[in-house]
Amino acid sequence: MREEYLDPSHASPWIVGYSGGKDSTLVLQLCFEMLLDLAPSDRQRTVHVLCNDTLVESPVLATYVDSMLARVGRAAESLRLPVRVAKTQPHPDQTFWVNLIGRGYPSPNRTFRWCTDRMKIQPTSEYIKSQIAANAKVILLLGVRRGESATRTQTVNKYDNGTRLNPHNDLKGCMIFRPIVDFSTEEVWALLLQRPPPWGGSNRELVTLYRNAQGGECPLVIEKSQAPSCGTSSSRFGCWTCTVVEKDRSMEAMIDAGFDHLEPLMLFRDWLAQFRLDRTKRSAERRTGAITYMPDGSAMPGPFTLAARQEILDRLIELQAEVGMPLISDDEVQRIRNIWATDTVDTARRLIALDDASRERA
Ligand code: SF4
Repeated sequence: MREEYLDPSHASPWIVGYSGGKDSTLVLQLCFEMLLDLAPSDRQRTVHVLCNDTLVESPVLATYVDSMLARVGRAAESLRLPVRVAKTQPHPDQTFWVNLIGRGYPSPNRTFRWCTDRMKIQPTSEYIKSQIAANAKVILLLGVRRGESATRTQTVNKYDNGTRLNPHNDLKGCMIFRPIVDFSTEEVWALLLQRPPPWGGSNRELVTLYRNAQGGECPLVIEKSQAPSCGTSSSRFGCWTCTVVEKDRSMEAMIDAGFDHLEPLMLFRDWLAQFRLDRTKRSAERRTGAITYMPDGSAMPGPFTLAARQEILDRLIELQAEVGMPLISDDEVQRIRNIWATDTVDTARRLIALDDASRERA
């Protein structure tokens, strides 16, 4: 990392992808330690710490990540390190609730996982692009490891060009640097436990978080090739609303560990996963007005009907009052109502057009 940072051939800023999980924490910690080890005059490149908030993050992880980012920001300032903390979010028109309740997208599953791109890839890509625009090139540091899973080994090998920096698949001007790619899980934990983070505190909190959630994490998803791990059983610190997983095992484990206040959220998620299966809640017409027929001649279920969307919103607002934590913003509710109003007008127009056409035929 030191060699790369001091490389005199270019001065591209670094962007460390931080998700709050163990691997990205280690990369960030190693980066911080390296900067501290350099003479102040050698700390020429800015290091951005980039974290994405889907706005439906698992609440325990979200609180932890926020406190870590605040600590990192404070430490960087007092130690005079060229570190800038940045948090990205989905575009206000592309949040989970605006798409699900507003546009009626069915709760995501393996075959229709509309959320990862909108809620994770696009916001982080926008940030990276803005840095490329300002600096011509950036280096993105990721905590991916070959040993994470067989799929990850395949992906890493596929894009490994044998040198330290590999070009990003989709973002021109972005080079990927994977400093811990060959670390084992044991090595990651050993380092985290042996060395207290330079921003203060200890990594024990992280260990407890993993123990309580029994395992995996949802990594910072930067490109489509990484998306398959989002919303799978190996990415259990994902969104609390995630219906791509059959059961939210990490939420279950947390509730077992004493986080009782999460139980209503888990029940809502379970309800939402079932709700999409109820054909009466789904419209046959897609948002484009098209109807797709299945081999048996029945119409393929499309978006949630307006009544179903209203039902989800009512239930979500009740849940919000019950748990006493913000789950949906006023801005989202307003956007949802605007989409409903447009959808109602569009449906009325289509019905009038159909009526006119049948009268003409008659
Ligand atoms: S964790 Fe689940 S809901 Fe969240 S972006 Fe990934 S697949 Fe979608």
